Amino acid sequence: MSPQKNWQAIAEGVDTPKELLIDGAWVLPVAGERMDVISPIDGHVIASVSLGAEEDVDRAVSSGRAAFEDGRWSRLAPSQRKATLIGWADLIESHRDELAVLQTLEMGKPADESWAVDLRSVGNTIRWYGEAIDKIVDEIPHTEPNSLALVTREPSGVVGAIVPWNFPLTMAAWKLGPALAAGCSVVLKPAEQSPLSALLLAQLALEAGIPDGVFNVVNGMGARVGSALAGHPDVDVLAFTGSTAVGRSIMEASARSNLKRVWLELGGKSANIIFEDADVDTAAKTAAWSIFYNQGEMCTAGSRLLVHRSIHDRVRDRVLEIASQMQPQNPLTPGAPAGALVSATHLSRVHSMVEHARGQGEALLTGGAPVLGDTGGSYYPPTVFDNVSPDAFIAQHEVFGPVLSITAFDTEEQAIQIANSTAYGLASAVWTTDLSRAHRVSRELKVGVVWVNCYEEGDMTLPFGGVKLSGFGRDKSLHALDKFMDMKSTWIQL
Ligand code: NAP
Ligand code: MG
Repeated sequence: MSPQKNWQAIAEGVDTPKELLIDGAWVLPVAGERMDVISPIDGHVIASVSLGAEEDVDRAVSSGRAAFEDGRWSRLAPSQRKATLIGWADLIESHRDELAVLQTLEMGKPADESWAVDLRSVGNTIRWYGEAIDKIVDEIPHTEPNSLALVTREPSGVVGAIVPWNFPLTMAAWKLGPALAAGCSVVLKPAEQSPLSALLLAQLALEAGIPDGVFNVVNGMGARVGSALAGHPDVDVLAFTGSTAVGRSIMEASARSNLKRVWLELGGKSANIIFEDADVDTAAKTAAWSIFYNQGEMCTAGSRLLVHRSIHDRVRDRVLEIASQMQPQNPLTPGAPAGALVSATHLSRVHSMVEHARGQGEALLTGGAPVLGDTGGSYYPPTVFDNVSPDAFIAQHEVFGPVLSITAFDTEEQAIQIANSTAYGLASAVWTTDLSRAHRVSRELKVGVVWVNCYEEGDMTLPFGGVKLSGFGRDKSLHALDKFMDMKSTWIQL
C-alpha cells in the first residue's frame, strides 16, 4: 500500500501539458478544436485539452516515419535505447504522485491504488524493456557447409497504439515499452476520458531524451483519431487494447488499407472456479476482490463466480461481507477501497445492464443502483446476483463494472463446460488443493491466462492476453517485442 498521502493537495498542485505532442513539440490541432476532461469524482471539468483529428494523425505519422527512416532511434545501438528508457523509468518514478493523481482525477480509481499498483507497473515496464533490449540475440540456423543463414529481427516502423481508460498508463506502457525498445516510432491515442496522465508521461519521455518524432501523442475521439490510425496507409503496426467491437473495426480498417499488423487485447468474462477442496475463505475473499477491484473496470474482472454447490452458501456469505467493505468513496480519500466509475455515461451503461438482468428475474443480493449521487460523481456499489444460469444475459455479457454473477456447479466437467461457455477467453482462476485437478482444469480452460489459487498474479515475464473474442495479442514478456519487429531471413552462399 502507498504511504499516507494528501491526495487532495497533490491534485491541486498537479499540472500537465494540454496539447498534442507531434515531432517533439506541443502543438495545437490543425482545426483548433478542444475537449473538456470531466472528472467522474464530482462531474467537474478539470481541464481542456487539444482535440486532434485526421490531419493531426497524418502529421504525427509523418513525424514518426521521418524519425524512423533517418535512424535517430531505430538505428541506435540497443544499449543507447536502453539508457534512455531507463532514464525515462527513473523520471516516471520520481513523478509517481502526479501521474497517480492525474489518473484518479480523470478516471476515478482510488489514488492509493493508482500509486501502488499502476504506477509501480508503469516504471517497471519501461525499465524492463530497456533492460531487455541489449540482451536479446537473433538466430543462425545450422546449414550445410557452403551457406550461412541468418534469422534477424528488425523494428517494424511506425506503430499506432490505441489504449483504454481503465489502466490508462499501464496499458500505454505495455505498448510503448516493447515498441520503443524495439526501435519503432509510436503514435499514441489515449482514451478520450484519460488524456491527462498520458500527456505527462509523454513530457517525461521528452525530458528523458527520446528523440523528436519517436513518440507522438494525438488525443481525440476514437471514431476520428483512432480510426484514422487504424486505416492509415503509413502505419505498420496497430496495437490496441479495448472493446471487442472496436477491435473488429480496427481489423477491418487494416484490411481495407495497408494490411498493417494488428494486435488486439479485448474484453473478457472471466470465471473464478472454486472447488469444494479449496481454501474456501481465501478463494471467496479473492474472488470478491477480483470483481470489485478497480470498480470492476477490468478486462480480467472475475465477473463469474462458479462455486461447488456444497460450499455455495459459505462462499456467497463471504463475498457479501467483502462487498460491504468495498463500497465506493471519493477516490482521493486515503484508504478508499473503491472509487468512481469512469464517467456518467459508463455508469448508466452499467446500471442499465443490471436493470436488464433484474428484468429477467435474476436474484439481486446487494447493490444494484448508483450511490453518492449528491457528489455529482459516478459511483456504483458492489452488486451481486445469485443462482445465475450460465446462459443468462448477465453471465454472458461484459459489464465492465462491479457486478458479479454466482453460479453453482456439481461436477468438475460441468464447471469446465460453464467456464468455457462464453464468447470470451481472456482469463480464469481455479481454486483447489488437488494438484491433479489444478492441472487438469487449467488445461481444459479456453483462455490466455490461468491463475491457480490466486488472481491477477504474475510478473513481467508472463505474457498477457486472450483467445476467442478476447483477441490474440500478448502484452508483457519478451514475446511482446516480436509484435513490433519483422523477421528477416538471409541466406548467404559462401
Ligand atoms: P473502447 O471503446 O474499445 O475504447 C478503447 C480505445 O479505442 C479508446 O482509446 C477509444 O477512443 C478507441 N476507439 C473507439 N472507437 C474507435 C474506432 N472506431 N477506431 C479506433 N479506435 C477507437 O473501450 P473502452 O470503453 O475504452 O474500454 C473498455 C473495454 O476495453 C472493455 O471491453 C474491456 O474489456 C477492454 N479492455 C481490455 C483489456 C485487455 O487487455 N484485454 C484491457 C483493458 C480494457 P475513445 O476514448 O474516444 O472512445
Ligand atoms: Mg470508449
